[in-house]
Amino acid sequence: MEIFDAVDVIQTKRDHGVLSDAQIDWVIDAYTRGTVAEEQMSALLMAIFLNGLTRAELNRWTAAMIASGERLDYSGLACPTADKHSTGGVGDKITLPLTPLVASFGVGVPQLSGRGLGHTGGTLDKLEAIPGWRAGLTNGQMYDQMQQVGAVICQAGQGLAPADRKLYALRDVTATVACIPLIASSIMSKKIAEGTGALVLDVKCGSGAFMTDLSRARELAETMVAIGQDHGVTTTALITGMSTPLGLTAGNALEVGEALEVLAGGGPPDVVELTLALARQMLDGAASRIEQNGVPGAGVAAGSAEAGRRAGELRQADPAQALLNGQAMDTWRRLIQVQGGDPAAPLPQARHTEQLVASADGYLTSLDALQVGVAAWRLGAGRARKEDQVQPGAGVVLHAKPGDAVRQGQPLLTLHTDVPARFERAKLALDGAWTIGASRPDPQPVVIDTIGT
Ligand code: URA
Repeated sequence: MEIFDAVDVIQTKRDHGVLSDAQIDWVIDAYTRGTVAEEQMSALLMAIFLNGLTRAELNRWTAAMIASGERLDYSGLACPTADKHSTGGVGDKITLPLTPLVASFGVGVPQLSGRGLGHTGGTLDKLEAIPGWRAGLTNGQMYDQMQQVGAVICQAGQGLAPADRKLYALRDVTATVACIPLIASSIMSKKIAEGTGALVLDVKCGSGAFMTDLSRARELAETMVAIGQDHGVTTTALITGMSTPLGLTAGNALEVGEALEVLAGGGPPDVVELTLALARQMLDGAASRIEQNGVPGAGVAAGSAEAGRRAGELRQADPAQALLNGQAMDTWRRLIQVQGGDPAAPLPQARHTEQLVASADGYLTSLDALQVGVAAWRLGAGRARKEDQVQPGAGVVLHAKPGDAVRQGQPLLTLHTDVPARFERAKLALDGAWTIGASRPDPQPVVIDTIGT
């Protein structure tokens, strides 16, 4: 590999120049190995924050991050693969019903998830509320489970995009997190290294999301879709609302309970709608993969009659029916059991609850996602530092959503925690979190836009 001087690389970006492929490969590799100093990478990140990256630079930057570690390969499986990534929101439990739902149609779902930090929950924390369930699998165990069950939800191994781990920690302390090329390369390097064939991005937009305004959410979605497509992953994105929590629960065991309702054919309408919209995208993405690449692991060639038949089946598949007829629930049970969990065990419940009630008759006109997320976090559902433990039963249950009629004195929220001293700070977070008005507000769409189809 050609060797450069870090100062020259920083100067190029500082002066609005374009980095060469070789410069990018070198700087990511040298930083990951510890040869480029933290202060030099800090300066380069700030130059990128201020001056951006071209599409070619961003692709190379992402490729270099992927090349910093291992890349998983599921091309030997006898099925196509598809995955979903959400940029994170309050009450976002969609991975739980979505993964078994899509896998129940014979599409492999290699879902590498994270833990919550701050006000947004993490899928692994939610699943760990299920007695016995374990998040850590080796790459070999993941591959075996993909063959056996057709899906895995687990923690990303240390070997995947190690450059991102260092860069993300550095961005956190250098005010360079909120930068579209850096967010996009961070997310996409991990998703591409994970080895999925098709990918659907759920880019959240609103007070409880990373991106609070629609134009930034759209730019992030378009940037990530372009990176995925340029790396040979069939990628689409939905931009979805996150100004109010998704569903009626925020908190680990509470959200598992709600996911189970969806898998049993019920559940809140917004959670069902988003689960089905994302499932549709994943099934279509998997169908496109079969049309373009065949299914090498099953000896099905691209363009063959068998490829056409399999792709057609996925395009015709009815995910709503699979929630109603128990097909998705059967896959959920297998998925939980094979990772040590007991799908029939009662979920943990918090020891204490407190209700907040409506102060007037009328319609709930808003209920702020960020404030509910912060309250759930303060009740013990989330962690302030990586090493903190979460309380599985803590969180917030909503009894009304914007657009619902409410009566004075009616419960609006129930707060759950094991530590009653936490109620006070949670209630402070919820100060002014909702409004009640005389007329019903216009319904807000769950899916705001689709990118990349
Ligand atoms: N999630 C990531 O993985 N990376 C970012 O930069 C932001 C969100």
